[in-house]
Order: sequence, then C-alpha cells, then structure tokens
Amino acid sequence: MELNEELILRVLSNVNIEPRNFVAFYIFRNTNDVFKLLIATILTQNTSDRNALRAYENLVRTVGDVTPRRLLEAGEEAIANAIRVAGMYRARARKIIELSRVVLERFGGDLSWIKDLPVDEARKILLDLPGVGEKTADVVLVNLGKPVFPVDTHIMRISLRLGIARSRKYSEVSNAWMRLLRPDPRKYLDVHLRLIQFGREICRARNPRCEVCGFRDVCRYYNEVVKRKGA
Ligand code: SF4
Repeated sequence: MELNEELILRVLSNVNIEPRNFVAFYIFRNTNDVFKLLIATILTQNTSDRNALRAYENLVRTVGDVTPRRLLEAGEEAIANAIRVAGMYRARARKIIELSRVVLERFGGDLSWIKDLPVDEARKILLDLPGVGEKTADVVLVNLGKPVFPVDTHIMRISLRLGIARSRKYSEVSNAWMRLLRPDPRKYLDVHLRLIQFGREICRARNPRCEVCGFRDVCRYYNEVVKRKGA
C-alpha cells in the first residue's frame, strides 16, 4: 500500500467537519467577505478555533459590522477588550488596527477584488499587509478557491509522522500535499479541513490513536516508532 490520493480521501472520509470549528471557513461561508475572512484568520493565529470564534463574535458585538472603518472607529482598546479570549489581545488588537488602516488607505477598505487575481498576485498583495504571513495568506487563498495548501500545526505534525516531509519547512510540506492530490482547489480546502480534524481526533500531538488509524500501513512514525516500541 502507498500513500496516495485514494487512500488519503478514503481515510479522511470518516472525519466529520463541523464548520463552526473552522473559524476562517465558517466566517467566509457566512459573509463571503475577504476582509472578514482575513480578520477571522488572524484571530486563529496561536489559539484554538473555539477561542477565535468567541473573539470574532465579541468583535461583532462591539463594532457591529467588521469593516476597516468600524474597527478604526472603535479603537485599539475596545478591540483588545473584545478579543481578549483569543490571547495576546493587545498585540493582536494593534495588528488589527494597523491592518485596517492599511486596507482603508491602500484599497479604500475593500479587498473583494483579490478573489479575481491569479494566485501569485493575490498572495503577494496579502503578504504585503501587516500581520499576514505565509500561513495566514494561504488560509485566505484556499478559502477563495485558489490552488494552495495551508499547513497548520496539526498538518505539520501529521506530515512529519506520515513521512511525506522530512523538515518543518512550510513550503516543502505544503507542496508535498499538493503533489499527492489532484490539482483541485476545492479538494485542497476539503482535505486541509479534514486533516486538521483528523489531527484533533486521531493523530493527536500526545497519544496518537494509531490503533484506529487508516494510515498505519504507510505511516513512518507507526512503523518505525510505535511498532518497535510494542515489539
Ligand atoms: S498511524 Fe498514528 S502516527 Fe501515523 S498518521 Fe495514524 S495516528 Fe498518526
């Protein structure tokens, strides 16, 4: 058996996706708004999706509509209070204010046109914004239907265990998944979300549940570490 698209899709078909557990996906699905998607993605940096969603919902209660203008009008202090639950709230509020100012000054507060750009141009614009790194840009892009594969901490761990990547280099891991799957952005998004859930439920950081995992036969970690320990 080899690790290929067929096996990946078969194993991940048993993983259920609850949209509210994926804040960026959930917010974009409900609003179709690129700026809101970006703010939701920033709120998920270094925190759980549950806390990020609570922070986003508090933000909506505070500013009404999450737009660059409303956020700037509300000010850093009010934003920091609203998003406290996500942690690092002062630094994050500063980042949100700075981002709002740049989006308003550079683009009149509107980012919707990014959807129509080729992926490389869209990524370049996103990476030029304050507080937006490789992963945040890719989460935004994959939700916009662009052919990218974002790698979060769960996907990084699963990739290293499976052996599809030897280093933690973001681009290496992301490209490895894109090589394994047929080039279909909708599939990239679906597999990305399912892998995260798979990492939460099965390939957990501590005590991975290898005994119920469909990747066991092809998994480097299982065959080189788990099996040896049990031998
Ligand atoms: S066999 Fe274990 S380590 Fe490998 S992918 Fe499955 S749960 Fe993770």
